[in-house]
Amino acid sequence: MKQPWSNVALVAALLVVALIVELSLNFGGWFIALVLVVLLLQRLSREYQVKQWLMRPRRAIPAKVGRSWQTTLKQTQSKLENARNRSRTFLSALQRVRTTSDYLPDAWITLQRNGEIEMFNQSATSLFGIKPSDVGANLSSLIRHPSLSQLLHNPATELIEITSPVDESNRIEIRLIEIDRDRWLVIARDVTELNRLLTMRQDFIANVSHELRTPLTVLLGYVESMVRDDLPDETIRELANRLMAPVDRMRFMVDDLLTLTRLEAAPLPSADEIQSINGLAQLNLVVEEVALLKKGNHTIRLDADEELRVECVPSEIHSAFINLVTNAIRYSPDGGRITIRWQSYDGQARFEVEDEGIGIPAEFISRLTERFYRVDIRGSRAYGGTGLGLAIVKHVLRRHQSELQIESEVAKGSRFYFDLPLTFSNNGSEGTTA
Ligand code: ADP
Repeated sequence: MKQPWSNVALVAALLVVALIVELSLNFGGWFIALVLVVLLLQRLSREYQVKQWLMRPRRAIPAKVGRSWQTTLKQTQSKLENARNRSRTFLSALQRVRTTSDYLPDAWITLQRNGEIEMFNQSATSLFGIKPSDVGANLSSLIRHPSLSQLLHNPATELIEITSPVDESNRIEIRLIEIDRDRWLVIARDVTELNRLLTMRQDFIANVSHELRTPLTVLLGYVESMVRDDLPDETIRELANRLMAPVDRMRFMVDDLLTLTRLEAAPLPSADEIQSINGLAQLNLVVEEVALLKKGNHTIRLDADEELRVECVPSEIHSAFINLVTNAIRYSPDGGRITIRWQSYDGQARFEVEDEGIGIPAEFISRLTERFYRVDIRGSRAYGGTGLGLAIVKHVLRRHQSELQIESEVAKGSRFYFDLPLTFSNNGSEGTTA
């Protein structure tokens, strides 16, 4: 666009030309000058219109700019519109990436080389409490932790684990990745649950090894005695008989472990495993079975609704019944009374077993369904349990969308019960392994 002074120069030049024409021809000079001035004014007016339009180029192009300007401005307008569309698409893609990254459970933070925060996602706020006003602040001054400062000063470390500054019970794993010469990317994730599972796995392996080791040691002792040459046949037979108890114990434990693994593998039973059963018939079988096992002289009373049926996996519910009734006998003194109930309750079927046994201190009740958890390890071993019975019951019930309830009083007795829906629905929420 020409500057105003050049228009003035043009006017001056035209006037000079008109003056020369007038002086040399003595004719028409002033008329030419007038026409030229009108043309110039028109041009100035168009320039003004163009400038005005350029300030807000999305408006319609004014007709006053003339045809040739209109064509040029239309091209400009369409190029601007294309550029605007491109940047709009780019911005909305960027926005989508930002919003999506806010849904990531892992946190990311971009840092300048000196540790200043540039950008971060929503999880960085939940894991570290970083706020938008912290942009520009140094990460190690916001999260004061020696390992983090060390990581930022010596990025070769790459991976550290710290306690969450927001919640002390959570552990966070942090990784530092180099983006380019000037910037770092910090990736962080909550590893509390992962750590818990790893600890559980280690405890589990330690427990299994420990539990199997005890009967194995006993077994080894007997076998060592038996291989001595000078033993009479009678003693060898007696020792061989004694082998049965630790062998049985190991077999029960392996069976229970396999059952647990199978139950955990499938959170819900498949439709063809489900059958309708009569609870009373099932419980009569349970009573017969435990009568063969029970050592003491317990009285078992069965109070059941003959008609009450439920849809379930029969073998699993049978094992839940057996485990609970066996425990009632196991942890009741000789001659103790045990009552089994099977009644409808609140539109469901309620199974209940009540004993007058040793009872359980309140602080241990919530842990009873953990694998290998026993209130009194020595005592329980003496009673012959594997420590897996209630864990199996928990998983069976979870597969039946039910939960074990326990009420107990030390030296008075315990009540274990659960409710089963009359019809099995496969739409229940999937359980998790614990
Ligand atoms: P166990 O094979 O040792 O019986 P369970 O998982 O069946 O293992 O039970 C876990 C622990 O819960 C038992 O070791 C025992 O301490 C306690 N317990 C279970 N049932 C009863 C009960 N009816 N009375 C008292 N304590 C019980």
